[in-house]
Amino acid sequence: MRILLTNDDGIHGPGFEVLEEIARELSDDIWVCAPAEEQSGAGHSLTLNFPVRLRKLGERRFSVTGTPTDSVMLALRTVLEEKQPDLILSGVNRGANLGDDITYSGTVSAAMEGALAGIRSVALSQVLDREADHDMFDAARAWGAKVLRPLLDLPLTERTLVNVNFPPRAAADIEGIRAVRQGFHDYSRTSVVEGRDPRGLRYYWFGLQAIEHTLDHGTDLEAIADGYIAVTPLQLELTHEASLATLRERFEE
Ligand code: MN
Repeated sequence: MRILLTNDDGIHGPGFEVLEEIARELSDDIWVCAPAEEQSGAGHSLTLNFPVRLRKLGERRFSVTGTPTDSVMLALRTVLEEKQPDLILSGVNRGANLGDDITYSGTVSAAMEGALAGIRSVALSQVLDREADHDMFDAARAWGAKVLRPLLDLPLTERTLVNVNFPPRAAADIEGIRAVRQGFHDYSRTSVVEGRDPRGLRYYWFGLQAIEHTLDHGTDLEAIADGYIAVTPLQLELTHEASLATLRERFEE
């Protein structure tokens, strides 16, 4: 089984070696193609306005001067063109990709790009507890392969991917694995900090804040709060079916 690894924290991101460990439990045919720099929040962006470089760092190891989507697309079109991967793994992200995080997420978007290419794709994220005294990625490291194995022989549904989040607990304290749907945040998670640069010019800097969630039953947010690993199937088809009939009526002649 050929596996392509990528992420959005960059090829030197803290969760990437964890992902490599997890992947090696599943196969020996591991390829890496990941952004040279951190790309968190890049979403599904594709670099169009300047050229992108592919740097060979090792026999099966490449960095890309672009986004997570650039990395997956380039890997599939260049170094893996002859033999495509059977599986694309993106992560392990430093931080949650739960609820509405997904639309901003470079980690999830890299898996979306894999799904668009018709390849089984999984995004993995480690929810953080910065106060914890255990290794930040302990849960992902110990449970990663255990979560992935049952996904490997699932019938592959086109234009779908799987989003996995590990709760901020030591591996030994994980309650188990739950298949859940995407939850939602109650309000925008982005803070905007205003400041002045050394020349006195105003700048703005976006930040992320922990926020209150409505822990609806059966959601990824609830599973994480309960100490479970959250596994959520996602689809690229974003049509809101319930509104479609209303809109059809509205635009009827
Ligand atoms: Mn990230």
